Amino acid sequence: MHHASCLCGAVTFEVTGDLPCGDGCHCVNCRKSTGHFLASVDLPRNRVTITGEDNVTWYHSSKKVRRGFFKKCGATLFFDPLFQDWIGLSLGAFDGPTNTTLNLYTYTAQKGDYYELEDHIEQHLEPPVG
Ligand SMILES: [Zn+2]
Repeated sequence: MHHASCLCGAVTFEVTGDLPCGDGCHCVNCRKSTGHFLASVDLPRNRVTITGEDNVTWYHSSKKVRRGFFKKCGATLFFDPLFQDWIGLSLGAFDGPTNTTLNLYTYTAQKGDYYELEDHIEQHLEPPVG
């Protein structure tokens, strides 16, 4: 079981079981919504319990994706592809050890010019196919 929350604690979520490896998305939308890039883990919805979801504001950044944040403290929390059965959870929101690591970078063609990517993490200019 892993526990996570927004900065002020009004929104919390829990994940049953271990976290999978995470990915870092460097697309312009993720960079602008997070202030850097989005480090997240993707989980089947049935393993995620959100408490205080009434406090989440959903911003539709495209026709297929909405992003959830708490407008009071500004925390970026959820990346929710509307037509999929999984949801992306911000790794920075987790309390305590996550016991996971990033193993994939996506949209690296759109990354900022002020930081370098770590070579040991698989890189894709766009998301990997499949
Ligand atoms: Zn992205």
